[in-house]
Amino acid sequence: MRKVRLGRTNLEVTRWALGGIPLSTMMGGKDEETINQVLNAALDYGINFVDTSRVYMDSETNIGEVMKTRRKECIIATKSHSRDYDGVMTDLEESLKELQTDKIDIYQVHELYPEEISTVMGKGGALEAFKKAKDQGMIDFIGLTSHHVSVMVEQMKTGEFDTVMFPFNVIEREPEKELISLARSKDIGTLVMKPLAGGVFTNIEKCFKFLNGYPVDIILNGVANLDELKENLKYVENTEALTSEELKEFEEEVAPLGKDFCRRCSYCLPCPNDILIPIMINILYPQVKGRNYEDLTDKQKKMGKSLMLWWQACEECGQCEEKCPYNLPIIKRKNEMLEIFSKAE
Ligand code: SF4
Ligand code: SF4
Repeated sequence: MRKVRLGRTNLEVTRWALGGIPLSTMMGGKDEETINQVLNAALDYGINFVDTSRVYMDSETNIGEVMKTRRKECIIATKSHSRDYDGVMTDLEESLKELQTDKIDIYQVHELYPEEISTVMGKGGALEAFKKAKDQGMIDFIGLTSHHVSVMVEQMKTGEFDTVMFPFNVIEREPEKELISLARSKDIGTLVMKPLAGGVFTNIEKCFKFLNGYPVDIILNGVANLDELKENLKYVENTEALTSEELKEFEEEVAPLGKDFCRRCSYCLPCPNDILIPIMINILYPQVKGRNYEDLTDKQKKMGKSLMLWWQACEECGQCEEKCPYNLPIIKRKNEMLEIFSKAE
């Protein structure tokens, strides 16, 4: 199994690593048994890295079930979304307990927004807790994750972070301008999230070959079952990059998608009214957008009818839109869909 050195952490990590969102039964994972099978199979194959977060619902708990007997085989990265010292310390204690371990290898500031920088990096902020935890041996390395590339670039220059995690794929190309070369020059480990743009791209081989064209370390991908795991592992050992012709074709193929589509990251959850927003926005919306009810297939009409019952419970509190890293107009899309399906008998 191909391994890479993760920047100055000096950890030898498998090039492909397991993302923690579908390891949660509430964020795409089928059930605890399937999640357990997926994680065990990945470790059996030699995958030695899993990434999760305190906010991925029961993901840490499910990972902990496997870690209680296989901890030595796996490097664990998790994240805290808290922005102050006390919040991070409480999160860390919870994570250690849920993951059934006494140390986190890489502990990351989760999804940093520009307006949060001064709180996180300032006195009494999250970073102080990360450093304290490192001094006390509760974590080994400090990482940063964000969808805001300019935030990452600015914070990488502080020298505080050993790793950075960011979305990178053929339509999210901002990291290629400065982030990747800066990471290399500072020997900061790089973890790529959303290599398939949240499952929108289905040609895994092509997506991995795209990433092979750049000096990035780990490809993180979430898989929900053994078939998806096997499909990913088929292409992990391939070191070839896309040729310039293949890249051009790929760019032309994805151009109609634009950029404002749902990546199924589930950051918009939980909804106070238990609406499964990613299913609505990622699966149903692209199928019905701009269409008349009469033109939909029977399957789409049926799916819409049952899902609209959920949507009707939306009180437009706006919490989901605040959390969506892609600033998608979720409420507007909900109203478009309600309008289309208002014609249903
Ligand atoms: S706006 Fe609607 S869908 Fe979004 S979190 Fe609030 S209730 Fe849920
Ligand atoms: S709506 Fe936004 S936050 Fe929710 S799953 Fe889609 S991209 Fe992620």
